[in-house]
Amino acid sequence: MTTENNTIFGKIIRGEVPSEKVYEDDDVLAFKDLNPTAPVHILVIPKKYIVNLFDVEEEDAELLGKLLLVAGKVASEQGLEEDGFRTVINNGAGVGQSVFHIHVHILGGRDFSWPPG
Ligand code: 5GP
Repeated sequence: MTTENNTIFGKIIRGEVPSEKVYEDDDVLAFKDLNPTAPVHILVIPKKYIVNLFDVEEEDAELLGKLLLVAGKVASEQGLEEDGFRTVINNGAGVGQSVFHIHVHILGGRDFSWPPG
């Protein structure tokens, strides 16, 4: 696992880059996506540096669960319970991961097609 987090999300966690936070605790941070692709587009990240799901260890199981707990809570607070929301984790550049610090996209407030593109 990489130890130095030079990603933009590492900078957001350390407060070196501003973000519009909607949730924060000791382990998890959620903030609005800078270039939203839906009326609600929020990113949920662990403060621990994890690149993506190929980089997780047994000891991360609880933390990964917490990301989803926070995702549900944030989506509810954003008023998405009636229409629902989509979660996305891109794992690897080949499927669109552009920031290599794991993040759960929360997307809502518009129509979504299936299967996803
Ligand atoms: P990925 O393509 O890795 O799944 O998603 C990365 C997301 O991070 C993109 O939706 C992009 O808009 C968002 N993003 C990139 N840089 C920043 C930033 O500096 N601040 C915020 N809030 N979002 C960012």
